[in-house]
Amino acid sequence: MEYIIGAHMPITGGLWKSAERAKELGFRAFQIFTRNPRGWSYPELSEKEAEEFVSATEGFISVNSHMPYLPNLASPNEETFEKSVESLIEEMKRAKKLKIKYIVAHVGSHLGAGIEAGKERVRKAVSRALESVSCDCHVLLENMAGQKNSVGSRFEDLGDIIRGINDDRVGVCFDTCHAFAAGYDIATRTGLKRTMDELDKHVGLRRIMLIHLNDSKGGLASGLDRHERIGKGFIGRKGFENFLGARELIEGRPMILETPVNDYHEYADDYRVLQEIIRKAKA
Ligand code: ZN
Ligand code: MN
Ligand code: MN
Repeated sequence: MEYIIGAHMPITGGLWKSAERAKELGFRAFQIFTRNPRGWSYPELSEKEAEEFVSATEGFISVNSHMPYLPNLASPNEETFEKSVESLIEEMKRAKKLKIKYIVAHVGSHLGAGIEAGKERVRKAVSRALESVSCDCHVLLENMAGQKNSVGSRFEDLGDIIRGINDDRVGVCFDTCHAFAAGYDIATRTGLKRTMDELDKHVGLRRIMLIHLNDSKGGLASGLDRHERIGKGFIGRKGFENFLGARELIEGRPMILETPVNDYHEYADDYRVLQEIIRKAKA
């Protein structure tokens, strides 16, 4: 089985540098924020920046972008909702210029308005964005960690949203930490089997287009979105050995590390641990 591994790379010093850093670590895939993830404002993307990035990413199997943190596609607040849709549209335009095919977006929080209202908001938001930008980029809804008021933590809800959008450009990014924190026990054989069955039943495995590989600082069903270095959290080495054996989910799908590192060079440690785990999983 082929494993395509990469990590979320910093863009400090220029977008194209993220690709150089990924190359330096031997990755064939990576993910970036195309702008400041903690603000609403950002400078425009210049032609030069886009060209530099596109040429630096030559040879990579998979290049992905992650939406900033402030937008909430499930927000019941009209103003936040409109700004969030605008932000997704902007991300799609940037992705088009950067030749990025996959955009990861958190499903969001209904802030107390109820799960059904939240799902309807997300459906509307993603449909509107897909209608307003013509590109062959995909919007990947990321499963959430089961936090209070979160909308996309259950596969049933992700499935409902996706069916409502009814567009091949919408998919799912499966985050291992979020799934575990939401109560899907991917660390054990029976838990993983049940998780895969539910994922296939409610979402459909063909919709899973990216995997986020993170260990979890919170326990099973803790509802905590707290990532941990691979092998050091509640999923643990044994748990990842189990997870990485899920051929139907992993084969051909890029896996991106979003582990808490102080410096991107530290991803090399997670990568080494993963390679050890993969060797064991194969044996
Ligand atoms: Zn995310
Ligand atoms: Mn993630
Ligand atoms: Mn997270």
